[in-house]
Amino acid sequence: MLREADILNRLSFITSLGKCRKRKVGSLLVVNNEITIEAYNGMPEESGLSCLDGDCPRCRTEVEFPHGVGYDLCFCLHAEEKVISKAAQAGISTLGATIFSSYQPCIMCLKKICQSGIAGVLYIDPWEIPNASWGIAELEDTYRRLASSLPNGVEQIKAVNLGTGNFYTK
Ligand SMILES: [Zn+2]
Ligand SMILES: [Zn+2]
Repeated sequence: MLREADILNRLSFITSLGKCRKRKVGSLLVVNNEITIEAYNGMPEESGLSCLDGDCPRCRTEVEFPHGVGYDLCFCLHAEEKVISKAAQAGISTLGATIFSSYQPCIMCLKKICQSGIAGVLYIDPWEIPNASWGIAELEDTYRRLASSLPNGVEQIKAVNLGTGNFYTK
């Protein structure tokens, strides 16, 4: 029986493997207290392309994209969307599963998580809702409504020191 601390230590390791030059993120798909899929962010694994080698133009460019903007132009997969894609590849159902992630899901990942039937998300570092001057309150409100439509919601794990291998949860 895995303890949450075991899951989080594994998450720390998987996060350290992240293959995006912007940030390392890791996610685990946990079904019945078992880690069934592990993923770190980066370009599709079998493509032979790597963000670390400069193959993702959005991550490589000197142009400063505003936070959370232009994800549709990025060739890196977020760890959560990779965990869902890898589950599809392996024929493992995401229904009722929990995602443990080093980073709070962005809007793009949250909607995929919802549609995949995932029951809940536990994350470590918060992701800021993009500063959309035309409606940040609306983005926040809809994010919150979508997150709370998951049976177990989207919750931060408190006081975790990612990177040292030591976790102090809840
Ligand atoms: Zn990247
Ligand atoms: Zn994301």
